[in-house]
Amino acid sequence: MATTEPPAKRRKLNFSDEYKVAVGVGATQKTYSVPKQILTKSSEFFQKACNGKWRETRSKMIKLPEADTITFETYLQLLYTGEVVTTDDAPPQVPDDVTEDEASRASRFRFYAAIIDVYLLADMLLDSRSKNKVMDYLIDTTSVVPQFPGMAIIDLAYSRTLPSSKLRRLLVDRAVFIAEANVGYWTDNLTKVPSQFPIDLSMAFMKLAAGRRRPFNPKHLPRCTYHDHDDANPKCE
Ligand SMILES: [Zn+2]
Repeated sequence: MATTEPPAKRRKLNFSDEYKVAVGVGATQKTYSVPKQILTKSSEFFQKACNGKWRETRSKMIKLPEADTITFETYLQLLYTGEVVTTDDAPPQVPDDVTEDEASRASRFRFYAAIIDVYLLADMLLDSRSKNKVMDYLIDTTSVVPQFPGMAIIDLAYSRTLPSSKLRRLLVDRAVFIAEANVGYWTDNLTKVPSQFPIDLSMAFMKLAAGRRRPFNPKHLPRCTYHDHDDANPKCE
């Protein structure tokens, strides 16, 4: 994987300055004790919650009712280790054509949905650095999957992102890249996804036609094409 970040600074964790993060609601809610240094590494949301005048700063208790525990644990692991690990399994193997069976399709959806859930959690926590890492992982694990994205993934991503989302851009670019091999699939299914997707797809095809270019695999574009960068998180080299 092309990662251009400088090596992480070695810093001893301060376990006496911890926050409690309550994730989820009701019976499935779980509370995590996390050193402030970890929480505030790259999330603007946690930086504000731990350093501001919010009630959370005084109580050292932060609630994330809309998050789920599995996704939050993957996010925490990313903060601690710098690695995206959504399951203990390898990415699902896929057949070469679109005639895979229902069980295989469902397992593939769960695998990619878990990655996208972490991306969306990092988005909610205003953590661009983690988003970019998850994005790199998504591009790497899908670059040889001829069925990515399927309609269920498009549905999931479009229902939970804004038009400016780089995740939307990735899905559109991938769809353009695989379209030729999957024309039947797209014509059968394009009416089943949020209506903005076919619009974005046509715009992408028009841009390609105007530039007389061939569709490209997103894996071969500069990674920053799909990254979010700002002053606190400058572009990769
Ligand atoms: Zn970048």
